[in-house]
Amino acid sequence: MILTQTSRIYSDTDELRRRWIMIGGEGAVFLSLMVVGIYRVQRSFRKEGELLSRQKTFLHSITHEFKSPVASMRLQLETLLKRNLTEEQQHTSLNNALEDTDRLDQLLEKTLVAARIDNGELPLFPESVDISAILIDCMDKVIRSNPNRKIIQHIEKRLVMYIDTWAFNSIALNLVENALLYSATGTAVEVDLSSNKGNVVLTVKDTGIGIPDAEKKKIFEKFYRLNSSGGYKGTGLGLFLADYLVKKNKGAISVRNNLPQGSIFEAVFPNKINEIE
Ligand code: ADP
Repeated sequence: MILTQTSRIYSDTDELRRRWIMIGGEGAVFLSLMVVGIYRVQRSFRKEGELLSRQKTFLHSITHEFKSPVASMRLQLETLLKRNLTEEQQHTSLNNALEDTDRLDQLLEKTLVAARIDNGELPLFPESVDISAILIDCMDKVIRSNPNRKIIQHIEKRLVMYIDTWAFNSIALNLVENALLYSATGTAVEVDLSSNKGNVVLTVKDTGIGIPDAEKKKIFEKFYRLNSSGGYKGTGLGLFLADYLVKKNKGAISVRNNLPQGSIFEAVFPNKINEIE
């Protein structure tokens, strides 16, 4: 009898302990789910806030970016209206106005392309193309519009890749224009294109202001601009577009420090790209 009672007490205590363990376990799972949930909600609020503030900065800079070529074009046209201009002066004003229209055009294109990406409406038409020839052409144009800059080129000949021509041009142009913008006039920018272990590698090096490690990933996000780039013209869209287009072609883009100074951007494309999503 005593034995039976003792064993019931033991089994009751066991049962009680089991229940406590069960409640404790369930409580712990519930608590950790709650903590994860709160963290995720907080993180998405923070990201939303960051995006909103970046959009505000973007609106501010894009308005400025649109206004300045328009104002400059107006000035050139006003100059042309003056009667006593020499032929050379007329020529200079017309050329300056044309450069302004180019700037405006590029800006409009970047904004339009970013909107199309957002809406999932950016058509790409990949084909087998000689990307070495495309890059050489692209660099010729860059050199013509930046006659006072030194651009060193190491372009492996006849590299063929299955890619949308406009997309490859756009990637290269965004990287080179940034390299020129964020480095001093007297310094050189280097552009390399080569094949390496079945990959095609496009590298753009500058000796400019550089990018802090903590910002190296963020600069590929939409509208993201470093504080240090406040004094430079820009929209925070160029690298977002380049990253999107490289990834669409199953490639990867990254940035590292150029020693002792500046940045090296590298886009690596798998050589056998058969289809684009
Ligand atoms: P932006 O129009 O502002 O240049 P991007 O998307 O092309 O926009 O670049 C995002 C930011 O990354 C720039 O605002 C700048 O702070 C930084 N950045 C891009 N390229 C370079 C570079 N070559 N050297 C230093 N900073 C760079």
